[in-house]
Amino acid sequence: MRLRTPFIAAFTIALTALIIAYLASLRFPAEPTDYLWYDSLQQLGEIGRAKYRQSHRYGEYARRAERDSLHNVATLFRAMAYADNVQCNNCRKAIESLGGRFHTPVLLPSEREPTLTHLHSALSEKYELHNGPTTPCIHQALEDGNRYVARLITWCDASDIKQIVILQREIEQLEHNAPREYSVCPTCGAISDGGLHSCLCPHCLTESSEFILFK
Ligand SMILES: [Zn+2]
Repeated sequence: MRLRTPFIAAFTIALTALIIAYLASLRFPAEPTDYLWYDSLQQLGEIGRAKYRQSHRYGEYARRAERDSLHNVATLFRAMAYADNVQCNNCRKAIESLGGRFHTPVLLPSEREPTLTHLHSALSEKYELHNGPTTPCIHQALEDGNRYVARLITWCDASDIKQIVILQREIEQLEHNAPREYSVCPTCGAISDGGLHSCLCPHCLTESSEFILFK
C-alpha cells in the first residue's frame, strides 16, 4: 500500500501534464513544414501580410485626407484600402486551402503626417513590393507548378502597378483637388479610374456591374 500511493501520485501528475500538453497543442498547433508548395505559400504569406498592413494604413490615410479637405485623395486611399483588403483575403484563402496558415501581422499605429507625405509613403511601399518580392514569388510559384498562387500574386502586382501610376498623378496634381472616381474589382482587387472600363475585369472576368465604386 505504501508503494502504491507514490505510484498513483506520480501517475496522476504525469497524466495531468500530458492532458495540459495536449490541450496546449490544440490551441497552438505546430505549423506543418512538409506540405506541398511550402516555399510558395511562405512567400504568399509575406505578400498577404504586406497587403493587410497597407489596407489598414490606407484607411487611416483616407480619414486624414478627409480631415484635410482633400476628398479626391481620400477617395483614392479608400479604393486602395479596399483593393488591398480583397488581395489580402485572396492570399489568406489560398494559403489555408493549400494546407498552410496565414499569420495576421500586429499593426503599429502609423504616424500622423501631412497627406502629401502619406502619398509619397504609399508610392514608395508600392514600388518596394513591386520591385522586391513580387517577381521572385511569381517565378517560384510557376517553378513549383502552382499556377493558382502565381495568378494571385500577378493580380496583386497588376493592381499595385495601377496604384503606382495613380499615386504619381495625385502627387503631381494635389493642389488641383479634382474630383476622382475609382472602381475596384471585388474578386481580384484590380483598380481602375475614370468612367471607362471593359464589361468584364481584364484579370479575372468578373462582371463590371459588380465593381465597387468609390467617388
Ligand atoms: Zn478582377
